[in-house]
Amino acid sequence: MSGVNRRQLYKYKGDRCYHCRKTVQEMIDRHRTFNRMFEFNHVNPNEKHPDYDNLIRRVISSEQLDEVDKCVLLCCDCHAIVHAQNITAEVLVTVRVGKKTAEQKLKGQLIYDWKDKRGTFLTNECVLVFPYRVMLGARTPRVLFGTQLKKEGLLNRYLQSLPQCRFVTIRSYRGEKVLLRAEYLGDDRITIVYDMGFHIMDSELGGDNDAPTEMWVRNGIGLTKDGEVFRNGTVEIEGTLNNDDNPSTVLEGGIDVMPKAPHA
Ligand SMILES: [Zn+2]
Repeated sequence: MSGVNRRQLYKYKGDRCYHCRKTVQEMIDRHRTFNRMFEFNHVNPNEKHPDYDNLIRRVISSEQLDEVDKCVLLCCDCHAIVHAQNITAEVLVTVRVGKKTAEQKLKGQLIYDWKDKRGTFLTNECVLVFPYRVMLGARTPRVLFGTQLKKEGLLNRYLQSLPQCRFVTIRSYRGEKVLLRAEYLGDDRITIVYDMGFHIMDSELGGDNDAPTEMWVRNGIGLTKDGEVFRNGTVEIEGTLNNDDNPSTVLEGGIDVMPKAPHA
């Protein structure tokens, strides 16, 4: 893995140790290097890719990001503590909005400090229990949770229904911000504009047809093949509806991204 690619992956994972909060940037400022100081910790070691060492050294790819998505970034000291303590943990997150409730069980590991009597829960799972206001066409908005939109596949179903309802609009729960707007253009063509921070949507953005991927947007973060990382921006996709059940592959065709502010 080149230094550029490794720093990019570190930035994607927060650019700091998940436990002690030591930052990669601080190490660069102090020591002019971050070599040998940070490691990817597989939250479920059984999921580690059999050829991990080679995979992680290659240039950025979907396969590499899939692997990093199984991990949290730790400094080498904290990584050693996780393995030495070897505590697995489950956390149930519950969010109530009016009479509606969303629950999500997160699996992970624990670093426990017996002196301070506190633990750090490490999970690679995306928290999806946030509520949103979802509007199909001109109908009254419904309050739905990310768990319903992603895990239960409602977002994909709504996008598939665009020929009937014409528009799908998703706002934050408080309603002040449009996070996603999809529109039917006719002949199975649709456009989707979404805020990069709307982490229910994943996209791989590339040239046309068989051209390699230029940019990945996942977990609310954008990564380019040139090593950049973006946390703010708007993704615009124009494509053709197909009948695939996987939301991230609903679209084909030309894609455009307009990152607003690069992440420092
Ligand atoms: Zn640490």
